[in-house]
Amino acid sequence: MEQALKRLERVLELEKQQGYQNKAVVGGIRQFAAFWVSQANEEAGDESDLALVEQVSQVLVDYSHLPGKEARARAIDTLFQSIQRRRGRQSADSVASPVKEPPAKSATPSSPPESARKPAPAHTARQKAPRETPVTEDIETEPVDSEPVTVEPAIDYAQSGVKPDPQGLSQPVTAIKGVGQKIDEKLNKLGAKTIWELLYLFPRRYDDFTLMKPISKLQYGEQVTIIGTVWQTKVRRSRNNQPITESIVNDGTGSVQATWFNQPWLAAQLPAGMPIVLSGKVEMFLGRLVFNSPEWEPLEMEPLRTRRIVPVYPLTEGLTSAKMREVMQRAVKEWAPRVPDPLPLEIRKQRRLYSLPQAIQQLHFPDSQESMRQARRRLAYDELFLLQLGMQRQRRDWQDHSGMSLVIEDERFQAFMDSLPFQLTGAQQRVIDELCADMAQDRPMNRLLQGDVGSGKTIVAAAAMVIAAWSGAQAALMAPTEILAEQHYRGLCKLLEPLGLRVALLTGSTSAAERATIYEGLADGTIQIAIGTHALIQPAVRFHRLGMAVIDEQHRFGVDQRAALREKGPSDDGEPVSPHLLVMSATPIPRTLALSLYGDLDMSVLDEMPPGRQEIKTRWLRASERERAYNFIRRQTSEGRQAYLIYPLVEESDTIDARAAVEEYERLSREVFPDRRVGLVHGRLRPNEKDDAMRAFAAQETDMLVATSVIEVGVDVPNSTVIVIEGADRFGLAQLHQFRGRVGRGEHQSYCILIAEDVSADAEQRLTALEATNDGFVLAERDLELRGPGEFFGRRQSGLPELRFASLLHDTEVLAMAQEDAAALFAADPELVLPEHQLLAEQVRQFWEQAADVS
Ligand code: ADP
Ligand code: MG
Repeated sequence: MEQALKRLERVLELEKQQGYQNKAVVGGIRQFAAFWVSQANEEAGDESDLALVEQVSQVLVDYSHLPGKEARARAIDTLFQSIQRRRGRQSADSVASPVKEPPAKSATPSSPPESARKPAPAHTARQKAPRETPVTEDIETEPVDSEPVTVEPAIDYAQSGVKPDPQGLSQPVTAIKGVGQKIDEKLNKLGAKTIWELLYLFPRRYDDFTLMKPISKLQYGEQVTIIGTVWQTKVRRSRNNQPITESIVNDGTGSVQATWFNQPWLAAQLPAGMPIVLSGKVEMFLGRLVFNSPEWEPLEMEPLRTRRIVPVYPLTEGLTSAKMREVMQRAVKEWAPRVPDPLPLEIRKQRRLYSLPQAIQQLHFPDSQESMRQARRRLAYDELFLLQLGMQRQRRDWQDHSGMSLVIEDERFQAFMDSLPFQLTGAQQRVIDELCADMAQDRPMNRLLQGDVGSGKTIVAAAAMVIAAWSGAQAALMAPTEILAEQHYRGLCKLLEPLGLRVALLTGSTSAAERATIYEGLADGTIQIAIGTHALIQPAVRFHRLGMAVIDEQHRFGVDQRAALREKGPSDDGEPVSPHLLVMSATPIPRTLALSLYGDLDMSVLDEMPPGRQEIKTRWLRASERERAYNFIRRQTSEGRQAYLIYPLVEESDTIDARAAVEEYERLSREVFPDRRVGLVHGRLRPNEKDDAMRAFAAQETDMLVATSVIEVGVDVPNSTVIVIEGADRFGLAQLHQFRGRVGRGEHQSYCILIAEDVSADAEQRLTALEATNDGFVLAERDLELRGPGEFFGRRQSGLPELRFASLLHDTEVLAMAQEDAAALFAADPELVLPEHQLLAEQVRQFWEQAADVS
């Protein structure tokens, strides 16, 4: 019935806009009444719907006789109220007792309830006014909005004879009538081999023809639908003898011309006097508004092309949009009702979600913007729900492991704290306390430490490692690059060796002899702390008793690599014991989001910077202003500070015209800065060369370091105050923020200079965002908006399945629901073994498999 009501509302709205002149419809409102009532009666769901139809009919039929504007306005307002009341009743009903309402005639093959078939008895209207139907009060939650969200019974196809049919859905698309080999090929190209896949080939966008307007109000350029009468149609010839069909359509407010090219037969189909619906873009011809080749149909036809929201599909060569729509229409009509719905009915009812068949149907052929929104909401919910179920499982799997309780005496720990070169920030202190509490448990810790670049995560990790080592276990710290691993090694040796701990560095470039010694030390426990790269998770590496595993810059690692490090734990009496795990990340995610996303992790946040830090001043310069950047470096270095110069690209194979770091290094050290000591580091250097360059820079033996993105993360040389990033437009926002984090790590005012020319609109947004703020959280949100979550979180690294419908940024409400529901469902049936959860179990598997494929 919603469709009929929408139609009515549009006409009433129009009439209101036009000042109640009875001109909203050609031939007057009365004419519309007959047309509307017949349709509405068919759509009516129950007695009170029929009563409403009767009421509307009365008002519309008498409308023209109503004396004056005010009476008419009142009459129309009464109808609006009745419609609203009916909607209120519907949404209440849909919770109390699900009422099935066909979303669209075309897609729901089930027959309407008995009551709806009865012809409207003439007396019902007066007997039973709709206002007497009480609105059910006992709704648990507020409706999403005034729009009724239809909730159908679970898979209630029994009545209609339509059953879920996974086998049928798995047939090739050729099983659909009208799809032959040629269309089949095209559809395959679009990724739809089976009917099921075809149903999930959703429109790219929609043309909303539901925006109906009186002709007198048409404006150039808008996409509208009008209803009117054909006054005249004729065919004329263009200068090159092409037939042009021209119709004049009038709706009582004005006339407009519609033109079709090369379709002379249209003239016969558009005779004068025919009521017509016309949809299209308003264009201008010789100073008049016209429609060129608009979609049209006779007024009473089923609104397939016009008067609705028309889907626009991705196309491939040789497949017209008309054909595509036709195939879809057939597929959706026949097969959408057969799609099994894995979501438990309880949840669907409580969350007011569309059934899956309904959502699919509405996403293809939406009845309204609202139903499209609801359809999307359902599919977004599904994704987030599956995501959360997977998280719950990971969390549980992890907690099933036994862990080891690691505790040391307070005085001893205090001794370590006292040995630090600085006082910890409040945030660092708090996080260390959180870690201590976790490590004391015999359940393995699983914690994410978030803190913006430079917030001091390393020292927190060091504290955890010391506790592990002093309580008889070992600790490992894995970093994504050799440079970073080496830096951590240097820093931590200074800190930990005086405490009597033995620290080793294990990377891909550790010599064979050295490696053998380290393997031995790790296996017999004489080395307490291992720092390294992926080399740490090689099968040959065995720990005597790994109790604490730290992963730095965790976004640089895949899920498997994280798992591999966890598995290095010992076994007690044959049973594996997992080390405590701490993963660290400088990618700040809004807290609620992080909790849902990393639902399997506990979280700590370093939300306070070490004292004395100043805002890094960021400027974006044109390439022509490069000289200014050099002068600036000159000044800073003469004051004893140091500078980084970053160049994109590294591989010679790279075709991007970026200035290779090597060439630039030569040029800079010879021509621009002959009086400065310039270092060079890039990914193609041999490991010891890299190490030397970094060491020299850290020891202030060089003033400047020319580098590629190898120094993006983690590198810590507090004396450097300038970073110049060439080709800044080639880097992502998160990456740029990371680079910038290389400076501003000490007491001196620091600067970041971005050099980029002729940037794209996207890049411009990134660079200006960076200029505007130093706040990693703000930038992360901006980044999330600019790139979308898939890219933002780095799907490969995060091991997250791809989300097609859900937006982690905008669907926070749905995300929260999905999280809550997943937790509840998981608590009741963690293995998803109940028969009613079989489909769901399968979906979770598929959804996460897709994620595993890419990582
Ligand atoms: P990130 O969180 O980016 O990994 P680091 O752990 O590398 O940050 O720390 C950044 C810099 O701040 C380092 O030079 C470190 O020694 C210093 N630092 C860390 N904590 C403090 C503190 N509480 N007071 C002063 N300096 C600190
Ligand atoms: Mg770090």
